[in-house]
Amino acid sequence: MQDRTLVVVGGGFAGTTLVRALEKRLPQDWQLVLISEESYTTFNPMLPEVVGAAVFPEHVIAPLRPMLTRTRFIMGRLTEVERSARRLRCTTLTGQLDLRFAHLVLAFGTRAHIDILPGMAEHGLPLKLVGDALHIRNKVLQRMASVELCEEGDPARREHGHIVVVGGGFSGVEVAGALADFMREGQRYYPGIRCGELSVTLLHDGERLLPELPAPLGLAAGRSLMQRGVDVRVGARVVQVDGSSVTLADGSRLSARTVICTVGTRINPVAQQLGLPVLRGRIQTLPDCAVDTARDVWALGDCAAVPNAVDGGVSPPTAQFAVAQARHLADNLVAHLKGHTTQPFSYRSKGMMATTGHHKGVADAFGLHLSGLSAWLLWRAYYLSRMPSFGRKLRIWVEWTWSLFFPADITHLRFTRTHEVDSTTQC
Ligand SMILES: Cc1cc2nc3c(=O)[nH]c(=O)nc-3n(C[C@H](O)[C@H](O)[C@H](O)COP(=O)(O)OP(=O)(O)OC[C@H]3O[C@@H](n4cnc5c(N)ncnc54)[C@H](O)[C@@H]3O)c2cc1C
Repeated sequence: MQDRTLVVVGGGFAGTTLVRALEKRLPQDWQLVLISEESYTTFNPMLPEVVGAAVFPEHVIAPLRPMLTRTRFIMGRLTEVERSARRLRCTTLTGQLDLRFAHLVLAFGTRAHIDILPGMAEHGLPLKLVGDALHIRNKVLQRMASVELCEEGDPARREHGHIVVVGGGFSGVEVAGALADFMREGQRYYPGIRCGELSVTLLHDGERLLPELPAPLGLAAGRSLMQRGVDVRVGARVVQVDGSSVTLADGSRLSARTVICTVGTRINPVAQQLGLPVLRGRIQTLPDCAVDTARDVWALGDCAAVPNAVDGGVSPPTAQFAVAQARHLADNLVAHLKGHTTQPFSYRSKGMMATTGHHKGVADAFGLHLSGLSAWLLWRAYYLSRMPSFGRKLRIWVEWTWSLFFPADITHLRFTRTHEVDSTTQC
């Protein structure tokens, strides 16, 4: 008898939306399995808010198990797929687990490609996971403390106080704005830091920030960041990073010990192992999200280059498209199981938004171009609406409201455990 198991790999925007849609519609004699490396889904667009201490890290993640009713959840990493035998292998807490499937859906996003430039892997800080966001916040607080500890006139003060963000896309713009606000607010607690000793530089090798948005909004984002004191440099290509500086293609050097890397992604190794067709680092799919005409393996979200029938182009790697593809693929999978034909993915973007710090943002929503407070409020309302439960929505709303009236939390959370107290040199 055919194994009636549908396995979804990846508990991000795409995987969770798909599984929740299928729970209601997949025939009862089918088993649904979700495999994901973490037991929670991360709201990546809110990671810059964690860096800037506008929300607690626990509030940008949502546990997967309470979202699921009939799905078997396996916390594990997919490592191997034997497609001819319709079998996969994943590593779990207790070792390796083999599973058979009739349909496999890949929704495992992309990996950060941190070794994109010489020195970046050793010295750059990626922003992809909630752990990255917390690490960056701690690092920035360490740097601020270090500025105070260095002697007056020591050039190291400049290196500690200067944060460089590489990449002028959504995450680069948002993290630069969040950091500028966070450092300015936090400075009051570091009396030894003088005015002008803390700074943020945003480097972007394109002509303007946020190339995904209409030109006026990219320019508005740049202006908004500059008003907050961010040194925005477009057409600035980084060629090397070391422990104390960043070198640009024009030969200039910026002194900075903290470099945040928001550029560069690489394909998940499992996609390579499967030998699937790849387009610019993503699995190239057919218009209905199947990876080929065998229609037993499907892909969506960031990991997939899914054609969009609306404009004939490839869907961008954004949360909005990941969710739209998941809803569409649920329809297609149910149709396919019933022997009906599948439909090409077709979705008109509702717009895009980015924050540039507290109370400021840019948005292109339903054809309207907004910037400033209205765009920022729209951004917050949208991501609040996407949170999975009322309780979580309420907690975030309270926290956001709190941060409107009170200064940013500058707690530098140490992860030192008791038995490490005397051996560790980390502060
Ligand atoms: C800092 C940042 C800011 C962003 N800002 C915005 C924004 O403002 N607007 C916007 O639209 N988009 C934004 N994005 C992009 C958006 O987050 C992604 O488009 C979206 O998360 C894609 O969803 P996904 O489900 O395809 O992948 P992901 O959300 O990356 O989820 C992939 C999941 O797969 C799991 N996984 C990976 N490999 C394996 C494996 N081998 N086995 C099992 N599980 C695996 C991961 O743990 C993860 O849970 C931002 C991204 C980042 C990093």
